[in-house]
Amino acid sequence: MLEENLKTISAIAHKQKATLVAVSKTKSIDEIRQVYDKGIRHFGENYADELIVKQQQLPDDIHWHFIGHLQTNKAKLIAPFVYLIHSVDSLRLLNELEKQGAKYSRVLKCLLQVHIAQEESKFGIKPDVLPDFIHESLKTEHKHVQIDGLMGMATLTVDEHIIRHEFRQLKSLFEEAKKLLPHISILSMGMTSDYLIALEEGSTMIRIGSAIFGERQ
Ligand SMILES: *Cc1c(COP(=O)(O)O)cnc(C)c1O
Repeated sequence: MLEENLKTISAIAHKQKATLVAVSKTKSIDEIRQVYDKGIRHFGENYADELIVKQQQLPDDIHWHFIGHLQTNKAKLIAPFVYLIHSVDSLRLLNELEKQGAKYSRVLKCLLQVHIAQEESKFGIKPDVLPDFIHESLKTEHKHVQIDGLMGMATLTVDEHIIRHEFRQLKSLFEEAKKLLPHISILSMGMTSDYLIALEEGSTMIRIGSAIFGERQ
């Protein structure tokens, strides 16, 4: 664990009233526990199978965030305990979460993942169809899944202007989305390399892996 980094980032997040999610994918139970022992309670994982193993071995008061691409058939694995799913990008997944939430008598909190980066990723709703997506989602009554905000990842680049522009775009999409979904409050943006820019542009939740746990293999 990079303890000094953890202290610095925690303090910055606290000052900005943003939630720090420690991204623990590929990291061991021992490594996660060390960070837990420093008071961190929000952890993020990308793979359902990896998450359930860790959830079973770590304390119950951890808020587990699912931040990777979620296959519809894996939703049932995390539905009993997941705290927030950052990566909803299809109505099919939203409807499956509704079904799984009902099964466990839970309201599954989720974010819509928006594709703001230049890289051609398969994942994320394209900005121009986000309003349609939200309109469509509102046609079905959801009692067991709740959209709480948006998530996005900026382009992997050293060009700060590009990153800032993309985060600013996501923030403005967030404000637009609020007109249709007035209760949304979470804007999940910013990772190790760009969280300072993300916070300046209005992030309320940062997802930090390597700056806390060290580089991944
Ligand atoms: C891995 C990952 C992170 C953390 O990345 P770092 O650069 O290590 O901070 C954040 N968000 C998502 C969606 C990720 O997959």
